[in-house]
Amino acid sequence: MTKITKNVYSIEGITHPDPRGKVFPYLFIEDEDNLTLIDPGFLAQIPVLEKYLQNIGYDIKNVKRIILTHVHVDHAQAANEVKRKSGARIYSHWIESRYLAHNPPYMGPPSTQETLEKLENLGISAESLSREYGTLEVEPISVDDQVSDGDMIGSLKVIHTPGHTPGHISLYYEKDKLLLGADSIYKKVFGAEGMYISAPQVSMDPTTAIVSAQRLSRINFDKLLMAHQDAPLLEGAREAVEKLVAEYIQNLKG
Ligand SMILES: [Zn+2]
Repeated sequence: MTKITKNVYSIEGITHPDPRGKVFPYLFIEDEDNLTLIDPGFLAQIPVLEKYLQNIGYDIKNVKRIILTHVHVDHAQAANEVKRKSGARIYSHWIESRYLAHNPPYMGPPSTQETLEKLENLGISAESLSREYGTLEVEPISVDDQVSDGDMIGSLKVIHTPGHTPGHISLYYEKDKLLLGADSIYKKVFGAEGMYISAPQVSMDPTTAIVSAQRLSRINFDKLLMAHQDAPLLEGAREAVEKLVAEYIQNLKG
C-alpha cells in the first residue's frame, strides 16, 4: 500500500531500530511540485526517502513543507537535512516547537537511555544501532511556522492531540475523510495484537492520550493512517477508534 488516495502517499521502506516496529512518513500532494512531507523520519534513511520520491515522479526539491507531528527521533530526526536539501519550511505545534529547539530538551518518555535499554533487551546492540542509525538523538530543530489546534497547513487541518507528547498533532484532510493520526493510535506493531492508544512507556500523559483519541473519534473520517501500523484502516476507521476509546474509558473507570 503506497498510494492511499489521489493526494496521499504512505512512504514505504523506512526501517525502525525496533525490529517489531515500522514507521511511515506520509506525503501529501498539495499540487504539482508542491509537496508536504509529514515526519521525515531518521536521518540515516534520507536516501530511502529520496528514492521513494523519485519512484513516484518527484524530487526532494518539490517538498515545500515539512510537518513534524512531534519531537520523537523516529519522526523528526531528518527534518533539518530535508530542509537543507529542499528549502522547505518546517511546521509543528507551538508547544512541540520548544522541545524541537531543545528549549527545554525533551526528556521522554521514552528517554534515549530507555530506548537504548529496550533495544538492548531485544538483542539490538549499541554497535549495530550506531552502524545503521548513527545516533538516536535529535539535533535542535528551528520550526519556521508554529501552529495551533484548528489551523490549516495547506489543505491539512491541525488537530492538537496531546498525551504521547504535549504538542503532538494529528492532521485531517476533509476532502478524503482521511486522518493522519501519527502516534495517537497504533495498530499491530511492537508486539501488540490489535489497535491501541499511545502506551504509558512512550507517553508523557497516557490519560490525556485517551482523551485526545476520544476527540479524534468525533471527527468525520473513514481512513486512518498511523505512523506505526501493520496497514492503514481504510474504511470504518472512526467507528473502530470510537470502540477502542470506549474500552479504554471503561478500564479507567474500573
Ligand atoms: Zn512518538
